[in-house]
Amino acid sequence: MEWQRVLNQWRILVYSLWQKNIIKLACCDLCFSAISDTITEQEMPTQRLLCTHCLNELPLFRLEQLQGDLLHWPAIIKGLPQRGFNRLLTVAPYTAPFDHWLKQLKYQGRFELAPLFATLLYKQWQHAHHIHPFDSVDLVISVPVHQSKWQIRGYNQAHLIAQRFANKLQVPYQSNLIKRVKQGDSQVGKTGAQRRRALRGNFAINDATLKHIKHVVLVDDVVTTGSTANEISKLLISLGVHTVTLVTVCISLPLSNKVK
Ligand SMILES: [Zn+2]
Repeated sequence: MEWQRVLNQWRILVYSLWQKNIIKLACCDLCFSAISDTITEQEMPTQRLLCTHCLNELPLFRLEQLQGDLLHWPAIIKGLPQRGFNRLLTVAPYTAPFDHWLKQLKYQGRFELAPLFATLLYKQWQHAHHIHPFDSVDLVISVPVHQSKWQIRGYNQAHLIAQRFANKLQVPYQSNLIKRVKQGDSQVGKTGAQRRRALRGNFAINDATLKHIKHVVLVDDVVTTGSTANEISKLLISLGVHTVTLVTVCISLPLSNKVK
């Protein structure tokens, strides 16, 4: 829709000004206290939305009892019967303020939330790594959206989070490894002989770039049924990847309020 496209362009402009420090955000997103008094660039260089108090009070999953892997929680295993991935790292259950924030990023173009999510993911990653070290990561990718959705929305929220998270991990990020296609779409002859693609179910993958890739981190904003992550993970593993770690901001399960 035209108005949605114009609105998103306007938001992208405001966000770019904010990134360049032309627009300053001074209030905590949750308690409205002045951030400049409570947080410094050194403390949290990539998020300016929350004061230190609210940042420390966020309802994050506690990983100590889970050996740094949410797949050790019986309620999660019950809620995600199909798990093609080997390990799951999630910041928080799909409750306030995360449910609200994720909708704002996905539908309202509130792009300043992406650095906050990447910061929280990295904090959780470091915590999990301390409890049970991750194997060395070769590549970070994000769950793709179909091109038709991308054209309407103008962006993929998982991509915005994943590229910043990869930057913090200091691991290469590839945005075009996997494409979401309509089931039955033929990729034959579309991309030339040098780009081999495997097409399984809803995804097309540029498998030539997977050579020597052993550990892939797959990033999404929220996992619900896990079927998309499962399908991508199985595809990667069938093409020679040893380990897929699924990293998401939230998990939305019927039991999610009982597992924090
Ligand atoms: Zn606050």
